[in-house]
Amino acid sequence: MLSWVEIDSDALKFNIKNFRKILKKNTKFYAVVKSNAYGHGIKEVVKIIDDYVDGFAINHILEVNEIYERTNKPILVMGGYDKNDLVHLLDKDLNRIFLVVSNKEQIKLIREIVPDVHFYIKVDTGMSRLGYRPDSNYFLQFLEYLKPYKNQILGLMTHFANVEDVTEQSYAYDQLALFEEAKKILFRYFPDKKQLFQFHTAASAATMLIPESQQNLVRIGISLYGLWPSLPTKLSAYNIYKNKFQLKPVLTWKTKVVHINEVPANTKVGYGCSYQTSTKTKIAVLPVGYNEGYDRSLSNRSYVIIKNKRAMLIGRVCMNMIMVDVTHIPDVKIGDEVILIGKSETNQTVEEISADTLADLSGTINYEIVTRIHPYIPRIIK
Ligand SMILES: *Cc1c(COP(=O)(O)O)cnc(C)c1O
Repeated sequence: MLSWVEIDSDALKFNIKNFRKILKKNTKFYAVVKSNAYGHGIKEVVKIIDDYVDGFAINHILEVNEIYERTNKPILVMGGYDKNDLVHLLDKDLNRIFLVVSNKEQIKLIREIVPDVHFYIKVDTGMSRLGYRPDSNYFLQFLEYLKPYKNQILGLMTHFANVEDVTEQSYAYDQLALFEEAKKILFRYFPDKKQLFQFHTAASAATMLIPESQQNLVRIGISLYGLWPSLPTKLSAYNIYKNKFQLKPVLTWKTKVVHINEVPANTKVGYGCSYQTSTKTKIAVLPVGYNEGYDRSLSNRSYVIIKNKRAMLIGRVCMNMIMVDVTHIPDVKIGDEVILIGKSETNQTVEEISADTLADLSGTINYEIVTRIHPYIPRIIK
């Protein structure tokens, strides 16, 4: 294979250990492995961390099929589903697969296909995505509707809208206050189940910055993979923990040079002739493009690392290839290894191209950079 992703299993375990240091005593660690484990390879990641986590969270029921045989831990399905999705649960142990419900329609589907499945009720506290607001009649009516199914209710969950984008967390604290409101209402409707209900609200950033958000379990995605949810989150966490809380990036994306070409000065490069050489230029061609997850917005902007040196992208990102300028790097050969995301260290130098850098260059967030790496690219455990 001409392109592959290396997964650093020690870094995954290191990140989990770091979170354990800041978790309250009885808070469980659920690893969010949706979107092919944020591009890291869901099967590979589950295999590495199964012994170190308390459960897994995914978006879609089809993802249950990918990990069900690889773990005996609980699996929380956080996204939507239809009848033909629920059918996939029929042969599974429903004592460890939990759904999230937001409305009656979902309960009706559940009654029809998997009537015994347990679920969390999603509460909208300010994201305005799934669930109803606890201060609305929708929420009360939904709880009323759920009375006959009370033994299947595991508890409540919500999701924060704004932790990552700010350094002061008043919006999140307002969301938490609404969540506490929702709990009280739930206890009023189901007083006999009060002691049994479980609650969760926090993803990576809230877990670090808002201790009260940790509740019974936390749902850790991006930072399990050693990436910060955002720069404001990184700075805020540093203020709290200094160097006591650290993250190690887990993923390195590599490829190999497939062709080398030397062209004279004033030669156009790539589709649209968007780049023109100013001197005689040695070009290396690499076999990844926007189909593989190397975003087209990185055209003429990003760089890769070859032989511990930066090589700039020249011309547009093609569907399956990019071109880089290697004029200044001696002895580049076909077959030489190239780092697309990751770090290269020698005794004298450290060169790095991080998911954060690529995100900045293409106007997006590190989440999107890693989840877009095509699933067909092999993930290799180191
Ligand atoms: C994706 C997701 C998470 C994980 O978020 P990170 O910021 O990646 O830690 C947690 N909860 C829900 C509901 C999600 O959809």
